[in-house]
Amino acid sequence: MLKLSLMPVSQMNISGLRLGDEFSCSCGRIHKVSTKEIFLSDDLASLLEKVLEFTDIEGPILLVTGRKTWKIGGALAERYFSEQGYQVMVKESLRADISTISDVEKYASHCSLAVAVGGGTVIDTCKYAAHRAGIPFISIPTTISHDGIASPVASIFVGSRRTSIVTSPPQIVLIATSIIRASPRQLIASGCADILAKTTALRDWLLGHQVKEEYLCRTTFGITASAVLDLMRFIDNRCEEISELALAAVKCGLAMTLVGSSRPCSGAEHLFSHYLDMIGEGVGLHGEQVGLGAILMAAKYEDSYGPPMQWFELSSMDLKSYLSRAGAPTRLSEIKVPAETAVRALLECKNLRPERYTILHHSPLTRSAALKLLKMTDMLTEA
Ligand SMILES: [Zn+2]
Ligand SMILES: [Zn+2]
Repeated sequence: MLKLSLMPVSQMNISGLRLGDEFSCSCGRIHKVSTKEIFLSDDLASLLEKVLEFTDIEGPILLVTGRKTWKIGGALAERYFSEQGYQVMVKESLRADISTISDVEKYASHCSLAVAVGGGTVIDTCKYAAHRAGIPFISIPTTISHDGIASPVASIFVGSRRTSIVTSPPQIVLIATSIIRASPRQLIASGCADILAKTTALRDWLLGHQVKEEYLCRTTFGITASAVLDLMRFIDNRCEEISELALAAVKCGLAMTLVGSSRPCSGAEHLFSHYLDMIGEGVGLHGEQVGLGAILMAAKYEDSYGPPMQWFELSSMDLKSYLSRAGAPTRLSEIKVPAETAVRALLECKNLRPERYTILHHSPLTRSAALKLLKMTDMLTEA
């Protein structure tokens, strides 16, 4: 059973998974969950004590944080580790790009542990820099705006292009629910959208398995699918129980760790988002773009195969309803993406990753079909 020492294990519902263990799976592979511990509690101070309990720190600690997140939790972490007698080096990350990461890596190579206190940019910077320096890292998210808090995947800017790089997952994840709860509503809504969008990512994985005989692990598939259900419950309960969102994000991270790729969590809806990032159009956060992409892909699946048949599949209408109740955008105008850009993204995004089989590779859209899809999903209406 997944161990969550500060909350009832029954809430996790991931049977058979032991953190830090290797196990041989029915998919034929031996999986290792290299994340050792995940703790969830209301306050950060009690969580920080877990770091010393579960890690051997032999040298200085690198603390990566941001300007706002320094005040939210970074300063507390620095004070705590200093009071425990450790030398703490503090680095700020405002952008997860190669030059920032190289700079942070230089410091990381003189430290024995890296601790990230922040949002996506801070965690991605610390995750990749620690991986390159060969030291363990601890993830302390100050919000959940996407699924990266416990994953091995870092989203890094290479030039102007955002690239997903598989690195090492965090050794420990500390989730302070009071901090997540107080984070901006838009970031939480974006996190909800990124996780709900697994409904189409999973369909793409299954499609790749069925059509191209691609590797698929049913254990991993089930973990991501259960994260979608967790999110639906979270939204059905008016987004009040923030631990449900946190655990869904953790499950997505574990799923990616198990198979060593983003495949369980990223399909055509992510390619749609990556294309918007690449051409620099719109103002949407990652999860916001992915959520809109997922509505479009769910509609494309309906067009090709009819209504959803399996428990982890959401119809485009249901997905829209969940996104809307989470406070995430359901129309392109909300993130300032013009219709023509959306058409181009739908036609061309599959070329960003030709090897990742999705519904757009299986049944490519024509220009008129892309426009029809945008109209069918009411994507072009002004908000
Ligand atoms: Zn994502
Ligand atoms: Zn497996």
